[in-house]
Amino acid sequence: MYADELKQKVSQLKGIGRETSKALAGIDINNIADLLKHIPRAYENRKDRVSLSEYRKGAVNTIAEITDHDYIGFGSKKTLKVHLKDETGTATLLCFGRNFLSQKLIPGKRFYLYAVFEYKYQELQTSSFEVEELSGNPVNFNKIIPIYPLSGKLNQGVLRRAISEAIDELARYTQDQLPEYLKQKYNFINRNRALRNIHFPESLTTLKEAERLLRYEELFYLQLTVGRKTKQTRNPPRPQRKHQYNLQQKLITILPFSLTPDQIKVLDEIKTDMESQSPMARLLQGDVGSGKTLVAFIAALGIIESGGQAAFMAPTELLARQHAENAAKLLEPLGVRLAFLSGNVKNSQRKPLLAALKNGEIDLIIGTHALFTGNVEFKNLQFVIVDEQHKFGVLQRLALLDKGNTPDLLLMTATPIPRTLTLTLFGDMDVSIIRTMPVGRKPIVTHLAAMDNETKVYQAVRAEIERGHQAYFVYPRIEESDTSGNLKNAEGMYEYLQKKIFPDFRVGLIHSKLPEEEKIRTMDNFSSGSTNILVSTSVVEVGVDIPNATCMVIEHAEHFGLSGLHQLRGRVGRGPAQSYAFLVYTKELSDIGKMRLKTMMNFNDGFSISEEDLKLRGPGELAGSRQSGFLNLTYADLIRDIRILEDARHDTFDILEKDPGFLRQENRVIREVFDKCAPFKGAVENEESIF
Ligand code: ADP
Ligand code: MG
Repeated sequence: MYADELKQKVSQLKGIGRETSKALAGIDINNIADLLKHIPRAYENRKDRVSLSEYRKGAVNTIAEITDHDYIGFGSKKTLKVHLKDETGTATLLCFGRNFLSQKLIPGKRFYLYAVFEYKYQELQTSSFEVEELSGNPVNFNKIIPIYPLSGKLNQGVLRRAISEAIDELARYTQDQLPEYLKQKYNFINRNRALRNIHFPESLTTLKEAERLLRYEELFYLQLTVGRKTKQTRNPPRPQRKHQYNLQQKLITILPFSLTPDQIKVLDEIKTDMESQSPMARLLQGDVGSGKTLVAFIAALGIIESGGQAAFMAPTELLARQHAENAAKLLEPLGVRLAFLSGNVKNSQRKPLLAALKNGEIDLIIGTHALFTGNVEFKNLQFVIVDEQHKFGVLQRLALLDKGNTPDLLLMTATPIPRTLTLTLFGDMDVSIIRTMPVGRKPIVTHLAAMDNETKVYQAVRAEIERGHQAYFVYPRIEESDTSGNLKNAEGMYEYLQKKIFPDFRVGLIHSKLPEEEKIRTMDNFSSGSTNILVSTSVVEVGVDIPNATCMVIEHAEHFGLSGLHQLRGRVGRGPAQSYAFLVYTKELSDIGKMRLKTMMNFNDGFSISEEDLKLRGPGELAGSRQSGFLNLTYADLIRDIRILEDARHDTFDILEKDPGFLRQENRVIREVFDKCAPFKGAVENEESIF
């Protein structure tokens, strides 16, 4: 059991004053539990001796005797130089700004010394060193020393003392929660010892052991949470469902194109799920523009024709509206009764809408997260579709499911997620993939252009507009600001492009700060073709579908991540005409920045791009995990610790099979692990209602 002691404020620890607790609060450390989770970013091994003669190995860690003092420089600028020796050689310490050390480092005295030396002017020198007077029980020597992430006024000494005290005081309140047989199976050390060792390792071996336990434990609780939810989604079985497919057939025949083989395959998989006794939980992955939304609409028809209701949730109002408009075109002619709901729908409209939904007079409702707010009730919700799921937390998804009676769930994403991550975040969801694009799509031609070549880009865009096509211009910032330096911004460039570059065309502007009605009007104008150019921020990143737009200009492209660039580029190439992306970059580009832009030029599909992304960034920073604060784990890393994750997953699912209530009452431990973990935050608070 984790006692409330762990929730004590850090200021209650000895030696933590106002200033320090303020500095700690600045990095989100408020209570003892937070403090214990502030784990070292590295360790210094001051246990094993490294003598002066071995200075090439790295840091010297020795016992030195002071032999002499002298000074370099003159007058007020003079600097103390301390000469010392150990049994293997001699060296000097340059005490810049620390001449007072002459009082402490007295010739004849012996000290512990830790420093990286350089061979210079025929001697070993350093200006950065740590010393401590020789004693039987040194504070910072003869051990492995933690190096903590710092910020503001914090320093290593303060943190070490505070954490050491926190462990002494409070570690006794923490208890192992892992079943005994698992501790034996993996030969884990006990939790208190692990906690102590992650901060102050007895040895490198115990540090490894501590990491092994704490990583496993964290992933164990993660999987327990996921597993419990999964079980609830899948069980209990519902009566077998049988659907009607006349509407589906009708829609498919009137479409001006035929479905791709992958779309047909996925529809088949969905059909099997929907007619089965356990609710569907399926993740549909497919690159932008691969036709996922259409698949979802077609799937919904089966349910609607059989008298059920469907809900389609999109991450932004813009996108939800666009889906609603598409649905109106495709589905209303088939007699489907549609509704749209977002936070901006006025009360006078909302009331009758909610009543109709409750009475079953609406078949398909499309909207934002407003769909799962408290007063939304369905008569017979059987199908929940969530677009671009990575933009939502787990909790929000669950809340929508609770509005129906074992509804089927389809999540859609254009962000390729590795299989294990899928397992982790979505339990045992099934995965469908659309790999092939609709026929007739031409790969987008991508050009890179340096910033002072942008007039060429503008000319190319002009030619496209004169052919009747449209263009996006995307900027990293909305407006000029103190922090944006010389970055071009959407507002400024909107004026500039309209007045100076394209005075004969109509230019629109969209970004998140504009009022909702204005956004809608701007999108309508662009979508109907009455504006030729849309200047924007990355708000158009997700899902916007205007097939006549053939140019995507991204200025300061180096300010966008790879997946963002890929999503943005996916806004064009959606119709039969050849499309172009122009990535305009500033000359001072980092190596990684260069690689990113090259990747964009060389690859067109999201799966390859996300693989390249992984290579460039290294594991642990996977799109959609760390980067977006999606899963903020303390000890574990989903990529590095993939084997541990698999073990934990296996073990927890095993346990839940035998004991579905396992640790349910003790959710504090889970709360402690996930306090900082966005998608689980609320889920744990409200555990009773959700699990
Ligand atoms: P996604 O949701 O995967 O980004 P959409 O379903 O929005 O993709 O489809 C993108 C565009 O492609 C839409 O205009 C849609 O009508 C069209 N489309 C979908 N499926 C096909 C197909 N099989 N053949 C041709 N065009 C298609
Ligand atoms: Mg989409």
